[in-house]
Amino acid sequence: VKNKGGNQYYFFKQEMDRDIRKNYVLMAELSKATLNHEFQMFYQPLFDTKTGRISSMEALLRWKHPVYGYISPYDFIPLAEETGSIIEIGQWVLKEACNQIKDWQSQGIYSCAVSINFSARQLQQEGVVSAVKDTIQETGIDSHLLKIEVTESVMMVNVETTINTLYDLKEIGVQIVIDDFGTYYSSLQYLKNFPLDIIKIDRCFIRDMVEHTKDREVVKMIIDLGQQFGMKVVAEGVENDEQYRMLKEYQCDEVQGYLFSKPIPAEEVNHFFIQRS
Ligand code: C2E
Ligand code: CA
Ligand code: CA
Ligand code: CA
Repeated sequence: VKNKGGNQYYFFKQEMDRDIRKNYVLMAELSKATLNHEFQMFYQPLFDTKTGRISSMEALLRWKHPVYGYISPYDFIPLAEETGSIIEIGQWVLKEACNQIKDWQSQGIYSCAVSINFSARQLQQEGVVSAVKDTIQETGIDSHLLKIEVTESVMMVNVETTINTLYDLKEIGVQIVIDDFGTYYSSLQYLKNFPLDIIKIDRCFIRDMVEHTKDREVVKMIIDLGQQFGMKVVAEGVENDEQYRMLKEYQCDEVQGYLFSKPIPAEEVNHFFIQRS
């Protein structure tokens, strides 16, 4: 704890107390946010590096708080995990994504896969597989158009259960993405033991790959290894042309990042897609 000048410490503590209080308020409000229609889904396109076409979309959650404005999922997802409201929120996200898939399909615009992010508690929840199955059936979408993204840290929580759950999800036809790949030490174990379809290389390697040889080598290695295992490899956080050029050279399958598009509301995606195709 910072305790040099008395004032400084006091200031620090006061700020911390305020943050904690704010978090408590947010936690309480999170449980009502779904009912109050404060959530919105944004979509960020992924592109096939060979054709340059949109290959799928990632659904990213936004919370528009009535007082604080947009709050980042980095800040509220952990709180929702802690209180358990992530279960209800996750269910809303699942339904929203499936409805969107159906919408795009029925508009005849595009038969587009959508990926959603799962947190630890969601994946551990009993009945998660039937929840996914039911939602797919209710909306009547093709199950292979839904992808579920899970990070290594999420998979780590309860390895046995997780492996079983992922196999069950795959059985329904859902595709499994390992997100933020390479950020943990045991990464290779995941490739071997988990039923994965897609690897998403963590943004930190993409960020540094132009300047640092080591990061570049890691990126190359993940692409080669993933493809050896029969998986598709995606690079996230692509922000400039040089990164994109290298990724194409290394034959990375798909790219996602601000260079192409930020996450945007579904209506804007429609325009974007029509423009591009
Ligand atoms: P993530 O799954 O790794 O998502 C990628 C994040 O990187 C997104 O942040 C996205 O907006 C951002 N991003 C995309 N392209 C670029 C780029 O070129 N440069 C940079 N610097 N960033 C880029 P976002 O939307 O704020 O989401 C943050 C995290 O919150 C996500 O990380 C995911 O772990 C979590 N999250 C988002 N939506 C959901 C959800 O519906 N459920 C759960 N459980 N978690 C979610
Ligand atoms: Ca993700
Ligand atoms: Ca990620
Ligand atoms: Ca495959």
